Amino acid sequence: MPEKIGIIGLGLIGGSLAKAFEDAGLKIYGYDKSLDSISSAVECGIFEGLTDDMDEFLGFAPDLIYIAVPVNTAVEILQELGRKNVKTLITDACSTKTTICSEAGKLGLNFCGGHPIAGKEVSGFANSEAELLKGALHILTDGDETNVGFLKKLHEKIGMKVKVMDAEYHDEIFGVVSHFPHLISFALMELILKKDKNLLEYTGGGFKDFTRIAASDPVMWSDIFTDNSEHINNVIDEYIAILDDWKQQINKKEKSVLMKKIRHVSSARQCLYENI
Ligand code: NAD
Repeated sequence: MPEKIGIIGLGLIGGSLAKAFEDAGLKIYGYDKSLDSISSAVECGIFEGLTDDMDEFLGFAPDLIYIAVPVNTAVEILQELGRKNVKTLITDACSTKTTICSEAGKLGLNFCGGHPIAGKEVSGFANSEAELLKGALHILTDGDETNVGFLKKLHEKIGMKVKVMDAEYHDEIFGVVSHFPHLISFALMELILKKDKNLLEYTGGGFKDFTRIAASDPVMWSDIFTDNSEHINNVIDEYIAILDDWKQQINKKEKSVLMKKIRHVSSARQCLYENI
């Protein structure tokens, strides 16, 4: 187990990881370029060291560097760590994996990618909590077996369930089950705002459930959409074909077909969280 974990990016995910690792008895150090994030982290009192200076952060000599910033920034940070010839094991929490793993490979860094499948539509250290990660899935990208084994144990220690997969396969899966749902939630809000924002006055529980994630962070999500554009584009095309089929059945007033389609998806959705 590492004794000292250095976290880069003290927002929702970096803060939650810091709190969970500290609860597990590890020493936590933090780096963030925002003084607001650093002051919230100072107030929380769990960090052994905090800084907005990369050299000072590296001087804390963490056994593991954990990057928890939006993906494009994470790539820039990897490049900085590469220029500084850092040999420490590095992992990350970014929601896309192919670019970051390939960049770390090109830079010759000691890196293993990760993605905690836990989150919320709110950002920042103030919203972070150790509980967010308990029982959640953590994806690790396959690579050096020692690193994967080490990171698996570390995440299990904070109550996460670990799965290991190829970075490209990760982006294909999460393009469908995470990135695309965020996209259609943003697009639905856009539709209403474009038609007439006063319509929002009439929204009920269904709209609230469907659009919760449309309140998510613009930097994080524009990074994810651009980084995983190929897979997201494929899902958009498949979804348009499905919507087109619904449109045709609705126009033809094919009630029995519509009932069959709804029964099929409704029963799958009803069972989805039964055992959780
Ligand atoms: P956040 O906005 O809450 O926090 C990001 C933090 O990074 C902020 O404190 C910001 O000041 C800091 N930061 C930005 N640029 C920096 C730089 N150049 N150097 C140092 N610090 C910098 O974001 P978050 O929700 O914690 O997301 C972090 C990462 O985790 C993202 O890559 C995201 O894709 C991934 N992720 C997010 C969720 C979620 O639900 N929010 C879930 C899983 C994974």
